[in-house]
Amino acid sequence: MLWWSGSRTATRMKAQGKRSPAEPEDLLPRRSTAGGFKAMRDTGLYEQILGLTPPWRVSGVAMDKEAETITVRVELPAGATLACPACGRAGCAIKDRQERSWRHLDTCQFKTLISAPLPRTECPDCGVKTIAPPWAQKHSRFTLLMERLAIDALLEMSIQGACRLLRLTWDEADGIIARAVGRGLARRDLSELRRIGIDEKAVLKGQHYITVVHDLETAKVVWMGEDRTEETLDRFFESLPEGVLGRIECVTMDMWQPYRASCRKWIDGAEEKTVLDRFHLERHLNEAVDKVRKQEHRQLQSQGIELLKGTKWDWLYHPENLPPTREPRFEYVRQFELKTVRAHAIKETFRHFWRYVYPANARRFFRRWYFWATHSRLAPIIDVAKMFHRHLERIITFFTLDATNSTAEGINNKIQTIKKKAYGFRNVGRFINAIYFHCGGLELHPL
Ligand SMILES: [Zn+2]
Repeated sequence: MLWWSGSRTATRMKAQGKRSPAEPEDLLPRRSTAGGFKAMRDTGLYEQILGLTPPWRVSGVAMDKEAETITVRVELPAGATLACPACGRAGCAIKDRQERSWRHLDTCQFKTLISAPLPRTECPDCGVKTIAPPWAQKHSRFTLLMERLAIDALLEMSIQGACRLLRLTWDEADGIIARAVGRGLARRDLSELRRIGIDEKAVLKGQHYITVVHDLETAKVVWMGEDRTEETLDRFFESLPEGVLGRIECVTMDMWQPYRASCRKWIDGAEEKTVLDRFHLERHLNEAVDKVRKQEHRQLQSQGIELLKGTKWDWLYHPENLPPTREPRFEYVRQFELKTVRAHAIKETFRHFWRYVYPANARRFFRRWYFWATHSRLAPIIDVAKMFHRHLERIITFFTLDATNSTAEGINNKIQTIKKKAYGFRNVGRFINAIYFHCGGLELHPL
């Protein structure tokens, strides 16, 4: 490794009539009469780049050509004192130092490291404390500037892409994400939270669930917890700052009983503030249509009729989204007196429900639709209609609380992308961090 350090080596070399091979005075323009450029030794250059202020100083810079590494040596002069990191008391003596190094932004294509003996201060009040150096966060092996760059890269691309570009290991990227999320969660303010959406998300091949709470107004994920039990959601409500619970106006969710039980416990008048999510309700109807189709298809096949073969998705699409190639056959099948055709019509008609403005009109529509659905002699449809009827009061709130599910859909799509980009997460904690990182709207960067 080739070391060259500030004035001493250079002066000695000059005294011996030699020139230092990379003496900065030869590389940088000299001070001109017009001002502007100022000749500077590389130690001074790095002091400026790193934004170091006394007593910190760069004592040397070394280059390893083979490893393509530049190491910047930062030290404190003997006898220097520092402020206590715990209480801020100035002039604390340095008890001892531990050798540490941090990855910094590359210098051209060279990986650049800062190495320093990191001091521990001795404070009369707080005892011995390890300090955080001005260029890095405590416990991080990256400088603040390097973390900023890595965060920007990780926001833009996959973890694999960012690792390749910045020469980071997966674990290093993971640490940067975890610290960024930690910073963001510590800084954010939930005191304005008024409207929340609660949803569950399957992780790790559907074996596990996480509960995802988002802010309906900002479309940001505000909380996540493992599992989907009543206790899971209790932990979210527990974590809220004082006064927020009393100001919650609207909660959207699925018909999942544990969530309902938790909301009842924590939110005054929870039932009147709950809106059952339109997306989930429509999914129940879709599932009912699919059951009807399956049963009927089996029955027709037993008579040698293949009319419903390969038509599964035709009944699940909304007609306006049906791919044109599927249209002719769909129109053909629809002419027959089929149970599936009736189930499909009942499902599609229910979409009108959401177009009402006044709750009284929506109720009137529901009564008619309910009569039709429950007299359809299609057991899966009857079941869903009865379920809607049981929960009607929490569905009608859609019109009084002005809730939409568009934010939930956006977040779901984003989470799906995160899952795909990461090619599966090795544990739930990492998946949760990635969601906070991309969907939390957090202040991720170090200050
Ligand atoms: Zn102290």
